Amino acid sequence: MTTSDYGNYRPLSRVLIRRIIVLATACALLLSAVQGVLTYRDVQQRFHASLHDIVSSNLPMLSVGIWDIEPEAVKRQIEAIAAKPEIGYVRLNVSTGQSFEAGQAALLRHGRIQRFDVPPPHGEGQMLGNLLIVAQPALLFQALLRALLTILLGYLLLTVLICALVIYVLRREVEHPLRSMADFASQLSPAQLTQPLHLARKPRAYQDEIDLVASGFATLQSAITRHIDTLDQQVAQRTVQLDRALHDIRELSIHDALTGCYNRVLLNERLPAEIERSQRYQRVLSVVFCDVDHFKRVNDRYGHLAGDEVLRVLAQRLQSQLRQGTDWIVRFGGEEFLIIQPETERQAAMHTAERLREAIATSLTLPDGQTLQVTASFGVATLAADDTMITLLGRADEQLYRAKEAGRDCIRG
Ligand code: GH3
Ligand code: MG
Ligand code: MG
Repeated sequence: MTTSDYGNYRPLSRVLIRRIIVLATACALLLSAVQGVLTYRDVQQRFHASLHDIVSSNLPMLSVGIWDIEPEAVKRQIEAIAAKPEIGYVRLNVSTGQSFEAGQAALLRHGRIQRFDVPPPHGEGQMLGNLLIVAQPALLFQALLRALLTILLGYLLLTVLICALVIYVLRREVEHPLRSMADFASQLSPAQLTQPLHLARKPRAYQDEIDLVASGFATLQSAITRHIDTLDQQVAQRTVQLDRALHDIRELSIHDALTGCYNRVLLNERLPAEIERSQRYQRVLSVVFCDVDHFKRVNDRYGHLAGDEVLRVLAQRLQSQLRQGTDWIVRFGGEEFLIIQPETERQAAMHTAERLREAIATSLTLPDGQTLQVTASFGVATLAADDTMITLLGRADEQLYRAKEAGRDCIRG
């Protein structure tokens, strides 16, 4: 990723560096100012001490000149003092009223005047006069400026050096690892969860915040990976449960709840396909309609619940007589069953119907111990080349009707 992909992005280190530079420069200027004030006094004191030295070294000669009343010598002496670069203006006021001066008289108005008494040559008695000295301001200024510039430059160089080192360290230790982490986090996707975060850092004996964030990433990645694995397992489990539930629903939808036989939903799905397959491959197929005789009487005599039980038993008996995996049975209506026999011609179907009739006619015992016997009538039809499900079942129904007409408990086909 490029930095522009992060939107309003500004590296943390750049912000820190800017602040450090501003603060360090402010500190350097403050320190320079404090140091400057101290140095200013120092330079001034040294400057005036040097003035003092100049005057002290010239006073004896001056004193002799005044004592000996040699104005020329005094004048030369005054000019010699004024010729020193530190001195701006010199004026000698002799107690007799005479005065001598040299240098820039204008400085008298602005500069700081220093007074020195001129003692007699032998050292005792009345002063011979006084000497007024004004320092050369340009020289003092230069000395001060040089000292202040040296201080300022020193601090600024130190600041630049420290800032450069701080910038280097911040970039290496903070900016680069943080950028790597930001790039890593922005590119993290479910497919790359196992990819570890690599920070190009030297091995160290301790951990810092960046290491903690990096190990936090690793923990988060493995937690998410585990979570996804768990989700996958849960999805697989739920899918199995859903498949089972769908299978159960399907079984419920195609079976009759009372007898467990197939119902008409399944019949309508499966019989047309069975008919089509038999006709296409010119295979035989027969159907047997079965209707319990006078079942209303069973209900009337033993009750509806007993009637249900009878239907359950009869369905089991029918089922037990059929070829497993080939023949199948449908509860067509209340007490009507339809048996479908693929690969079965009419004669075989008639035999099957006979077995079924006998199975039903066998007496049965109800849960309350009562014994009863029911019979059923059967209609058999075999598939013709142009049959549909409706015509085939219609013919079987006709045969059933004939069996009923013939007195019940018999087979027609
Ligand atoms: P037939 O010999 O002419 O077939 O006489 P039938 O009484 O069996 O004929 P009908 O069709 O008139 O009556 C069928 C009866 O079956 C009517 C109904 O009460 C009963 N029946 C239908 N479904 C159920 C059921 O699920 N349980 C019970 N107990 N009886 C049912
Ligand atoms: Mg009926
Ligand atoms: Mg009936």
